[in-house]
Amino acid sequence: MVKYVFITGGVLSGIGKGVVTASIGKLFQFRGYSVDAMKIDPYLNVDPGTLNPIEHGEVFVCEEIWKFQPVPGQAFNIAEVDQDFGTYERFLDVYMHPQNNITSGQIYLSIVLKERFGEYLGKTVQVIPHVTNEIKKRIIDASRRRNPDILVVEVGGTVGDIETMPYLEAIRQLRLEYPRDQTVLVHVTLIPYLGTVGQHKTKPTQHSVKVLQSMGLQPDIIIGRSDKPLPEDVKEKVSLFCNVPKNAVISDPDLETIYDLPLIFEEQGLGELLCQLLGLNNLIKHDIVNEWKILVERFKNTRDVIDIAMVGKYCKITDSYISINEALKHAGGYFNTKVRLNFIESEEFENNPEKLSILSSYDGILLTPGFGVRGVEGMIMSAQYALKNKIPLLGICFGAQLLFIAFTREFLGLRDANSTEVKPDAAHPVVDLLEEQKKTQALGGTMKLGSRRIIVKKDTKLYKAYNSTEIIERFRHRYNIVPHYASIAEEKGLVVSSYDAEDNSICSIEIRDAWIVGVQFHPEFKSRPNKPSPIYLEFIRHILEDRKKKQIKNIYDL
Ligand code: GLN
Repeated sequence: MVKYVFITGGVLSGIGKGVVTASIGKLFQFRGYSVDAMKIDPYLNVDPGTLNPIEHGEVFVCEEIWKFQPVPGQAFNIAEVDQDFGTYERFLDVYMHPQNNITSGQIYLSIVLKERFGEYLGKTVQVIPHVTNEIKKRIIDASRRRNPDILVVEVGGTVGDIETMPYLEAIRQLRLEYPRDQTVLVHVTLIPYLGTVGQHKTKPTQHSVKVLQSMGLQPDIIIGRSDKPLPEDVKEKVSLFCNVPKNAVISDPDLETIYDLPLIFEEQGLGELLCQLLGLNNLIKHDIVNEWKILVERFKNTRDVIDIAMVGKYCKITDSYISINEALKHAGGYFNTKVRLNFIESEEFENNPEKLSILSSYDGILLTPGFGVRGVEGMIMSAQYALKNKIPLLGICFGAQLLFIAFTREFLGLRDANSTEVKPDAAHPVVDLLEEQKKTQALGGTMKLGSRRIIVKKDTKLYKAYNSTEIIERFRHRYNIVPHYASIAEEKGLVVSSYDAEDNSICSIEIRDAWIVGVQFHPEFKSRPNKPSPIYLEFIRHILEDRKKKQIKNIYDL
């Protein structure tokens, strides 16, 4: 019997509900339970794949592709999911399945197609019961797929939003249908600290709990997000006004590292309380908890700092690159090193090329993924600058393609080399659509997606990182480096270090005499705090070793 933890949000979005969801999952793992997570996104997109990162943050890619088939003969590939799935994977070290990301787009698409196929013949199709039934079915189907001990279900958005209502109603019905100890409702809310009066303010939380109650939902636990820990009297007040016991008001303060949150929850007795409410045995596996504690210490007690320039076109919000940010931190943590991320909008370089010299002040450059035309020249200019000055650089997906364009412009004399994504009539289309993409018209879920087998060439930086001739990584792209231009570039110091085992396309490039690497895949999606991605690890290792060499040289120069 799967137990459910439903997690709703109050007052504001963006208060870290995903990290709370993942941390609650971790509390169950601390007790040896199997955990799966689910996210509900109330928007009407079928998946986030067509959303701009500035609008929605990163699009996470799952290992597997889900064939979403609402009616026979109508199938949609889904592998692109909400960025919270990255948080779940990083905390829980479980591959998330795309079926676990429900969107209103999927719910309504199913219902409308079913109606056209006659499934509701004679009936008026309505939000209640048809939409709510579809939601309940999706939650139950997801729980049956892996049959975990606990399924943590995060409801996106904020209580009170019109679009969230059918989901809350579905949860109300499920809670009524199931025995009391099969579900728990956790409400995550903002309890702001007002500096001017020196107090935490609980009124917004009281209001958001009232909205929940008006929908027939009484939270069992309230998690108060705040920059400072909640004092006892504030917990008491929330308890009194929101109808929960005081030990069920939990503090969620700002932390140096998000990976500390499960431990902060554990200290406040949240794990025990959840087990009590769900009728579960509360036997802590101390080895699992200790391992996590050691890991958190690694991120807190750093000895060294390195600065990475994150050059990209979606730098307005850092969540656009969240898996990359985390992968860099994981790799840094391995060496007890803090990785400082410096976000640079590439467009800035286009009108002010003299600003490129700022790149020399960083230890390395991360050339980010992306789509479209805006800011691309600035990214290519940054890669050219790195090539000329041998600054360590890791290019991811678009970043790898733009690195290749920079190389052909710089070393093959192809001044107008470009990607056909950026300039369809480029004289030298050195990056072009993958063969399989040439006939594709629809944009949703049609990229090369999910994990693929990659063959790695020996004696390359990539091989040094992975120590294997075969690896599996995740992809999300339409365009690729053109092999004909790659072989010309190989005569000038570029190395093609891997290719796709199935379609033979080029999967990575590197520069022979500098630590400059571009990967067409997204290794960051598989990076974990305790298992950093090999190529990110190699990038950071190189920077630290290089720094040591330079320090030694300086000593001898004295
Ligand atoms: N826009 C590029 C492509 O479609 C790169 C995509 C990406 O960076 N994820 O191939």
